[in-house]
Amino acid sequence: MSERIAVIGGGWAGLACAVELSATGQRVCVFEAARQLGGRARRVEIQGLPLDNGQHILLGAYHETLRLIRLAGADPDTLLERLPLELNHPGGGFRLRLPRLPAPLHLAIGLLGMQGASLREKIAAVRFMRALQRTHYRLREDISVADLLDRHGQTGALRRFMWEPLCLAALNTPAALASAQIFANVLRDSLGGKREGTDLLLPATNLGQLFPEAARRFIEGNGGEVRLSNRIDALQPSLIIGGETFAHVVIATAPQHASALLRTLPETTETASLLDGYAFEPIGTVYLGYPEALGFPFPMIGLDKREPGRIGQWAFDRSAEKSGQGIAACVLSGEGLWDSLDNETLAATLHRELQDTLGRPLPAPLWHQVIRERRATFSCRPKLARPTPDTPVRNLWLAGDYVCADYPATLEGAVRSGVTAARRILAQR
Ligand SMILES: Cc1cc2nc3c(=O)[nH]c(=O)nc-3n(C[C@H](O)[C@H](O)[C@H](O)COP(=O)(O)OP(=O)(O)OC[C@H]3O[C@@H](n4cnc5c(N)ncnc54)[C@H](O)[C@@H]3O)c2cc1C
Repeated sequence: MSERIAVIGGGWAGLACAVELSATGQRVCVFEAARQLGGRARRVEIQGLPLDNGQHILLGAYHETLRLIRLAGADPDTLLERLPLELNHPGGGFRLRLPRLPAPLHLAIGLLGMQGASLREKIAAVRFMRALQRTHYRLREDISVADLLDRHGQTGALRRFMWEPLCLAALNTPAALASAQIFANVLRDSLGGKREGTDLLLPATNLGQLFPEAARRFIEGNGGEVRLSNRIDALQPSLIIGGETFAHVVIATAPQHASALLRTLPETTETASLLDGYAFEPIGTVYLGYPEALGFPFPMIGLDKREPGRIGQWAFDRSAEKSGQGIAACVLSGEGLWDSLDNETLAATLHRELQDTLGRPLPAPLWHQVIRERRATFSCRPKLARPTPDTPVRNLWLAGDYVCADYPATLEGAVRSGVTAARRILAQR
């Protein structure tokens, strides 16, 4: 009987699972369909520069992600830039900055000190957070984020510049469609937790270096294997993959790919049907390359939305990636007008909106690159049913951001799901 464990999928969930297992001496084999690791959070090369398939933000509250990065041998303290949370919309005159003070003082002072919101809105925001705290962030029923904000009188600039963008950034689902319970969970672990949990952690390197490459070294260094360009098309209840028998198999793919695999076994078609019901949301990342550094007032700024029809959401200053050159990464979360525009128009529009936001002309971009991830995340809707890590087939497990029932599709959700699957396996050995 083989003792080896197969992990199908080398995204952050599969790698977290494999690293956690490798750390306890298990022999793991990771099968990855692509030529590289990282899945939806991976390194890509653009204009000869190592960048990412999409700009990612981590939060101080991503405890498991930070632990796993360390366990794999990388150093999150140098690979991530830690900044106190700041929501900065220079074009809209809105700014929320959380001071470096102990919780919950940092939040109260941050909310009351917001620029661009009325006193009535600030007090309403403090009340809203207190109401959520009183119920331990458990809602009586799951409704949309928009309904939750309505019920708690969250209107005006505060809603437009803070709650709705936070919802879109965290759940990648517009407030009108997004799950209020999952949003409340995110607030519990970020704004509602320790001050450090609210910190923004911006990758100071590409996503490959942050975890996947270190994870690979760690797995291989502990006697495991990573097989790239290795797509698994079918499962067998006897856990045989390509003629090799495994003691456990973890499916750590995105839900649509997990569904295709689960359909190949009669015992797991019900879970496959559940996943087939999932809707997805896109994310676009538009890189604009400039001849000089950009000098944003803060590395992440909200794009100017004063005029109707504007499409931009957030822009990140990645100028440090190449000395002397400026690189802006503009992020477009969820469905929107942006997705109907061709690449040229999209880049030109975002360049204009960036100038308006900064309030100064920028030189014409030297290059642009648009990356559209059509199924970036599952759409995080109210009452969305999630599968459990175990399946009706003995020793066949699920991991992936969608399995972490408490969280939206995030790196932390993916990593937690991988760690959970690993611990369930270890509990049986
Ligand atoms: C553009 C973009 C921006 C994002 N921004 C953020 C952010 O700012 N903060 C944040 O926390 N999260 C963000 N996310 C979400 C985050 O990236 C995902 O939640 C996370 O990466 C999902 O990891 P995963 O391992 O569950 O799935 P995946 O990354 O999808 O990994 C699954 C892997 O399985 C492989 N695979 C699939 N089928 C097979 C098969 N049959 N055989 C072998 N291998 C297979 C795939 O190639 C893939 O590598 C963003 C996502 C995108 C796309």
